[in-house]
Amino acid sequence: MSDSNFHYRGRFAPSPTGQLHFGSLVTAVASYLEARSQKGDWLVRIEDIDELRNIPGSADDILRTLERYGFEWDDDILYQTRRKQIYEDVLQALIDKKLIYRCICSRKDLRENNEMGQQGLAYPGTCEDKNHPEDIAHALRIRTSNQIIEFSDAIMGVYTQNLKQEIGDFIIRRRDGLFAYQLAVVIDDAFQNITHVVRGVDLLDSTPRQIFLQQHLSYTQPAYAHLPVAVDAQGDKISKHNGSGGIDQYKPVPALFAALRFLGQQPDPALTKASLNTIWQWALEHWNMNKIPAIEKIPYTD
Ligand SMILES: [Zn+2]
Repeated sequence: MSDSNFHYRGRFAPSPTGQLHFGSLVTAVASYLEARSQKGDWLVRIEDIDELRNIPGSADDILRTLERYGFEWDDDILYQTRRKQIYEDVLQALIDKKLIYRCICSRKDLRENNEMGQQGLAYPGTCEDKNHPEDIAHALRIRTSNQIIEFSDAIMGVYTQNLKQEIGDFIIRRRDGLFAYQLAVVIDDAFQNITHVVRGVDLLDSTPRQIFLQQHLSYTQPAYAHLPVAVDAQGDKISKHNGSGGIDQYKPVPALFAALRFLGQQPDPALTKASLNTIWQWALEHWNMNKIPAIEKIPYTD
């Protein structure tokens, strides 16, 4: 970067819905090594905004595992549930710009009436001009525009999406009153001065929504790198929910080795018996993001 003030800031943002598992370890390893290899900061954010999904004790559990695995983070940990007033203020700014409207459509309404978009159902704008009264249960949506959003992903290449046609006006605050992930993540990335986002490819199609919000909020757009996700034999993403991808909370080296191999870094087989320090030292010296396969799914068996 030519700007001498530039300072890389990366982050790892797990949801506290269970123990750290192989899929999230891969994201932690890649975001950490990329940040450290750029002499940058690496921050941890607990994305607990979807409170219905949180499992008590799981945030602390994830943090303890990261420590045992040898990760060191900068700054204080950010918890989204402590930032609701900030999200409320930003929502108000979007309301003032006349970008937000109330939507009373139920899931059933949407299933019956929607056209199929690339990502499933694109919201057709049913409630856009209805001006539903405040006292009916409603979600809040943001008006999208019929233009292509394009960005260049460091791993997956150029990605384009017509928000209006492929997603539709999207939800900013849910019917149950919880803020949508899309809003919270954009506000937090800006607040923490995140310059580079490294995360799983399952969030690739969310990125244009986030860029759209960044543009409306005059935030700087971070650079993005989306990693392949680990899938089981059926091609489903391994997750804490389907019980696959568990890692030994107390034996970091084999799991770190597997993560490095998953990320195409070709770790020396002797490292399976190395110390935690040695494997991290090797990883930092040899880290090369260009070696990460530019494919969406990689089978993983533990
Ligand atoms: Zn609606």
